[in-house]
Amino acid sequence: MQERYTNKMDGMVAIVTGASRGLGRAIAKEFAAEGAKVVVSARRSSPTGLTGTAVETANQIRDAGGEAMALACDVSDEEQVMAMVGQTIDMYGRIDVLVNNAGVMVLGETLLDIAPDIWDLSVAANLKGPYLCSRAVLATMIEQKSGSIINIGSRMGSDHEQGGGVLYSSTKAAVHMFSFCLADELKEHNIAVNILSPGGLKTEGSAAIPWTQRDWEQRVEPEAVGPSAVYLAVQDASTFTGRLVLRVEFGETWGKVS
Ligand code: NAP
Repeated sequence: MQERYTNKMDGMVAIVTGASRGLGRAIAKEFAAEGAKVVVSARRSSPTGLTGTAVETANQIRDAGGEAMALACDVSDEEQVMAMVGQTIDMYGRIDVLVNNAGVMVLGETLLDIAPDIWDLSVAANLKGPYLCSRAVLATMIEQKSGSIINIGSRMGSDHEQGGGVLYSSTKAAVHMFSFCLADELKEHNIAVNILSPGGLKTEGSAAIPWTQRDWEQRVEPEAVGPSAVYLAVQDASTFTGRLVLRVEFGETWGKVS
């Protein structure tokens, strides 16, 4: 392992959704490098045609000396979400961190471009997913009297001038408000809920969207998000909760780089 890792997540168990590639894979690998046992999940069969599977991510983690389990889970399907959480408990006995990362990015399309089935698919992954996954881990986190839920937000969810469009921006704005309300609700159980806005990334998903070419050179590799995700993962409601934080401001307006 590289020197910058200091086992900040030793003994912790984390679930990262949408970890077959992109940001989810980068966060899962960072958590494992910091000593966490990581459950990496994605759909059994991706309809996107993009590269990457949860099994590959888990293999990469194990090859680097970490601990990981790959599970198939469509986050918009309650039964699959409950099964993922059940298997995590069976395997590792606890859940300290949930990263609601799985998402569908429909960017730069107008209302008339967006067919109703695409609308439903995006809302199901981006909003219903965090709802179902958070709901499923709560009993365990409440019993543990601690936990951290990280929801992946977006600058598109706060600023319509970014041009994300009606669908993606609406789902991310909803994720932001979902997170603020859930943070209030879970304070009494010492569970942190924060929103991590990663900024523009060079992921497989964004590379497949022509719209992202307009700022491609300003985008960064998803690995850049790792340290800020680790910082949020080790928080509880007594230390840091109910915040919308920008990855680019990590170590400046929030968090400490150690
Ligand atoms: P990506 O490369 O397209 O990866 C998306 C991940 O989500 C894949 O692992 C995909 O898995 C999974 N996924 C999609 N729908 C799912 C579902 N219903 N159930 C389970 N998994 C599902 O995208 P990314 O760029 O890494 O984005 C990850 C997150 O960051 C998203 O929430 C996105 O909105 C957010 N974000 C991205 C950027 C950016 O610039 N890329 C910026 C801000 C925020 P399978 O298809 O293999 O099942």
